Amino acid sequence: MSGSEALFKAAQAHIPGGVNSPVRAFKGVGGTPVFFKKGEGAYLIDEDDKQYIDYVGSWGPMILGHNFPPVMDAVRSALDNGLGFGAPTAIETEMADKVCEIMPSIEMVRMVSSGTEATMSAIRLARGYTGRDKIVKFEGCYHGHSDSLLVKAGSGALTLGEPNSPGVPASLAEHTLTLEYNNLDNVREAFTQVGEQVACIIVEPVAGNMNCIPPQPGFLEGLREICDQYGTVLIFDEVMTGFRVALGGAQAYYNVKPDLTTLGKVIGGGLPVGAFGGKKEIMSHIAPLGPVYQAGTLSGNPLAMSAGLAMLNSLCEGDVHESLSAKAEYLTQGLEVIAARHNVPFTTNCVGGMFGLFFTDKSEVTDFKGATACDTEAFGRFFHAMLDQGIYLAPSAFEAGFISDAHTEADLDATLAAADKAFAAL
Ligand code: PMP
Repeated sequence: MSGSEALFKAAQAHIPGGVNSPVRAFKGVGGTPVFFKKGEGAYLIDEDDKQYIDYVGSWGPMILGHNFPPVMDAVRSALDNGLGFGAPTAIETEMADKVCEIMPSIEMVRMVSSGTEATMSAIRLARGYTGRDKIVKFEGCYHGHSDSLLVKAGSGALTLGEPNSPGVPASLAEHTLTLEYNNLDNVREAFTQVGEQVACIIVEPVAGNMNCIPPQPGFLEGLREICDQYGTVLIFDEVMTGFRVALGGAQAYYNVKPDLTTLGKVIGGGLPVGAFGGKKEIMSHIAPLGPVYQAGTLSGNPLAMSAGLAMLNSLCEGDVHESLSAKAEYLTQGLEVIAARHNVPFTTNCVGGMFGLFFTDKSEVTDFKGATACDTEAFGRFFHAMLDQGIYLAPSAFEAGFISDAHTEADLDATLAAADKAFAAL
């Protein structure tokens, strides 16, 4: 029995499913999740001392690689002063100033401890600010696990949303409309009927939770126009894309300004941090300035702020994002060529350092239907063939992959060489 198999067996006794977050359980690809004991640069080391080239990056934060020295040093020095005070600290202002400098659509920002908290709070704020209850989200986008957001589409665009999970009251889900990503006509039609009741549109400006689906030209611009027309708050959920597809996130990459932005992952450098921010006029409605309540004992925790700020400062120093894009393109184009050589129906998407792999005979995948029509079994077989060769991809056909600054050309070439064998075995 491998170290991971033994640990997974033991974990299941007192942890539901043996994991503290479901995708980690390898349900989408089968087999035993790998238990890691260390990360260094682009690599992860498992409990049996096997080394992997990592394309998950802790689901996003390790944009500069694992154990990145400036982040580790910042945490070490903050550690000496204590773990938290539940009172204001200077570094929170430094962090807020930095976020507002990097993302000009953010004039004020509130720190939280996860992406879920960020999106949940931004939605409450949008509802409190507009005095409206309905919200619009898109099929295939994930915004964390709060009640209003765990809602799937009813049978038509304007039918009541249905809870995605037991425990979400239907009376709450009915305020959530789920529309089609990259289908502006669908949004216009819905708004013609109920636009004046919609508090906010929340969207992943590059969808990274149905694999990786970029916005079609005009989609984000169209959402901006519709929101302006109906007095609806536009929220970009940049928990995944923020500081990743470009330093200023997808809003800088596509040059579309949201009213509110939610952030997570990269902003904590690996520690639990999220944030939401935006126009001062809207953010002024948050307590204690305004009546919309939102709070957190651990919010702005000094260790987490130190890690995040060191990460943002490091990202501001170099031209990391150009090199992330170039590496993602090199990898995905290489994979497409190899797949074609082995006659495997396959295509890819990439934006900045985010990429998606699709086992499909379609030449491009632009929406939820296209993503869910892909061959998930072929992905599972490819995933395991790669894992056996020491390449750690996201263990689900519906998650984006991440490149870090630590990945070298040799790592990418080793990945392509492994893919050659994996595609051949399919
Ligand atoms: N929004 C997006 C776009 C995400 O990708 C995620 C997490 N994958 C979340 C929100 C939720 O973040 P967290 O897991 O930190 O609660």
